[in-house]
Amino acid sequence: MRANRGRDTRPEIALRSELHRLGLRFRVHRRPVADLRATADIVFGQGRVAVFVDGCFWHRCPLHATVPKANGEWWAEKLRANVERDRRTSGELRARGWCVIRIWEHESPQNAGAEILRLVSERRDEAAHDR
Ligand SMILES: [Zn+2]
Repeated sequence: MRANRGRDTRPEIALRSELHRLGLRFRVHRRPVADLRATADIVFGQGRVAVFVDGCFWHRCPLHATVPKANGEWWAEKLRANVERDRRTSGELRARGWCVIRIWEHESPQNAGAEILRLVSERRDEAAHDR
């Protein structure tokens, strides 16, 4: 089984190449906020957009979430804690003015890329207006 929050997973790489194809530039595996322990998979500093690519198993996607039968209670608790941490992380980032996008690993990179492009452009426009 894949480690929790693995780096450079296949869905992540597919999404990153789609974003490159769309002409976007970004950083990978960064803390959006220095004093917050959360590391985002893809970070757009300009516009402050943080993207997390969430694995269906580890982050309990509504379509594919399962709990292993062996040690079921332990797993259920662990996965629940993951979801809770995701929620807290998103909340903390949003509270600091970041836009948080969570993409499920099962989503098509094309759809996810289009959504990210739209949000990043919007946020950059807003930032330009605020200046
Ligand atoms: Zn899924």
